[in-house]
Amino acid sequence: MPKTIGILAIQGDFDAHRKLLERLGVAMRPVLYQRDLDQVDALVIPGGESTTISKGMQRLGLYEPLRQRIEAGLPVLGTCAGAILLSREAQNHAVPVLGVLDVTAKRNAYGTQVDSFAATVNGTADHGLEGLRCIFIRAPQLENLGPEVKVLARVDDRPVFVQQGNVLATTFHPELTDDDRVHARLLSCG
Ligand code: GLN
Repeated sequence: MPKTIGILAIQGDFDAHRKLLERLGVAMRPVLYQRDLDQVDALVIPGGESTTISKGMQRLGLYEPLRQRIEAGLPVLGTCAGAILLSREAQNHAVPVLGVLDVTAKRNAYGTQVDSFAATVNGTADHGLEGLRCIFIRAPQLENLGPEVKVLARVDDRPVFVQQGNVLATTFHPELTDDDRVHARLLSCG
């Protein structure tokens, strides 16, 4: 299990992730600089606004160090905007991506803020995620999944939780419910 989990703290709901991880009893460190990144054994990239987070990542020179750490096996969980930043390509207003998850992320694919919704996973409930409640806020959809991408959960037949080796991504906000199964999976990745 990773000793210290980093949370990319540029913008978005990183504090809700902090609270949930606190409940799981792991040490945390906000990540803003490369020196923070060097101290963590797993990372959460939170939801928020991927354009804003990406500008911060560029300003702080985090793209290359992050890409290198993830490619070297750092367990990472990207949620919503975080999933977009991990993807191979972001569509519907492109944003610079890390390209470590072999999917296309279509931004705001369900509509605007008023089209936010909650739903329960269906389909492949094979990964101990039965009944997982998902909150979608201006969520992306993941398309063109590469052969190494495993779908862990779907809602209405669309993948909402995927894994490619050490890279985990949800299109929903697992930090906004009391269910800690998504974060627990990140911890078991390390
Ligand atoms: N729509 C946002 C984006 O494209 C993501 C929304 C979210 O993270 N809740 O960056």
